[in-house]
Amino acid sequence: MNADVIVIGAGIAGCSTALHLSESGISTLLFDMGEVSGEASGVNMGGLGGVGWGNSPKLQEYLTMGSLNIFKRLQIELGYDLEFRQSGSFTAIHNEQQYAYAQNRVIQSQKDGFNLQLLSSYEAKSIEPELNLDLLGYVYAPTRGQADPLKTTRAFGQAALNAGTKVHTNTQVIGMRSHHGIWELETNNGNYETQFVVIAAGAWCKNIGEMVGANIPIEPVVGQMWSTDPLPPRVFSTISSFESSFHWSENPYVDNNSPPELTHFGEQRVTRHLYGRQRKNGEIIFGGDRRDAGFNKTIDAGGVEINKGQATEVLPLLSGLPISTTWSGLMPFSKDGQPVIGRIPGNDNLFVVTGLCSSGFGRGPGAGMLVADLVSRGESHPVLVESDPARFAA
Ligand SMILES: Cc1cc2nc3c(=O)[nH]c(=O)nc-3n(C[C@H](O)[C@H](O)[C@H](O)COP(=O)(O)OP(=O)(O)OC[C@H]3O[C@@H](n4cnc5c(N)ncnc54)[C@H](O)[C@@H]3O)c2cc1C
Repeated sequence: MNADVIVIGAGIAGCSTALHLSESGISTLLFDMGEVSGEASGVNMGGLGGVGWGNSPKLQEYLTMGSLNIFKRLQIELGYDLEFRQSGSFTAIHNEQQYAYAQNRVIQSQKDGFNLQLLSSYEAKSIEPELNLDLLGYVYAPTRGQADPLKTTRAFGQAALNAGTKVHTNTQVIGMRSHHGIWELETNNGNYETQFVVIAAGAWCKNIGEMVGANIPIEPVVGQMWSTDPLPPRVFSTISSFESSFHWSENPYVDNNSPPELTHFGEQRVTRHLYGRQRKNGEIIFGGDRRDAGFNKTIDAGGVEINKGQATEVLPLLSGLPISTTWSGLMPFSKDGQPVIGRIPGNDNLFVVTGLCSSGFGRGPGAGMLVADLVSRGESHPVLVESDPARFAA
């Protein structure tokens, strides 16, 4: 056998899985058809979720707050520069309906033990000076953070390597079968044998599932971003808007076949979505659109302009700043919008970690740790009942 475990996909989920497996002393091979961090994990906005552990932590808290602990560990204990900061986040409220919705959410989450605060525009602006005073208010989440996606995912890959993982880039899995309890993987660089396989292939998980007749209902959803030229530090937190969450609270699906919480139904826009921050290099970056366009990553220029308009409503300083770059990536959206982490039914020793949708950068480290724990102990952490792939079995 070539290794005890082969992990397919070197994004943040796969790199974290490999790191935690290797740290448990399990021999691990990590394959990627491209490079480490070559897809969504390297091109995302870099926002990290997490509004506390709450009174009764569930999967979401293990993924968000658990991941924050891992980001801290990599940067502080292991010494990698991730540009990680627990910077807080502001979510803008544009109208009365959104205000009522935001207020209810804040009250409920405070009752549940989470750290969210509803601030007036003046209160918010005293912390984040470029926010628009004319909006109705902001929800502040002080525990949220940010990190550089490319540096971070590469650091996870390097930490896995240092812990003993063998990393094979430009190695695409093109076939898989199980024979007498051993998995045989066919790649463009030869065949490999292993006892356990973890599929961490992001938007491509469905294709890999099909190789073994398993249903992993993950759809690629294209997200796009833009940046300004560098400028001196002006924006310190991550910035978003309540417009989309209010819309999705009433209309989560555009149709029966799509994943939830998209901004478009075909070509038609149903809502505006916003997230952004200022990078350490000074560029202000924003994005938000989520389109179901298959594996087509072509930038929708009109969508970039609409997104810049929304960002400018929240941060008026953007009005005078031209767009210097745009880019896009593919997010792994599950059919129900929930993570898919666990054992794949009907296939011995086959596991998956995916379905992290639009927040997989902030949740990938925790997801990788949980699936590595499942593989090494043979037993699921209780919170993984929420992400069990068996819910999609026919
Ligand atoms: C524009 C944009 C903005 C985003 N902003 C945020 C944000 O602010 N915060 C946040 O938390 N999340 C954000 N996300 C989402 C986040 O990036 C993803 O959820 C996360 O990166 C998914 O990680 P992953 O490891 O599952 O997948 P990926 O990073 O896509 O990694 C999967 C890997 O599998 C490899 N692979 C696929 N098929 C094969 C095969 N057959 N053989 C070998 N290798 C294979 C691919 O090459 C790829 O490297 C954003 C995404 C986008 C696109």
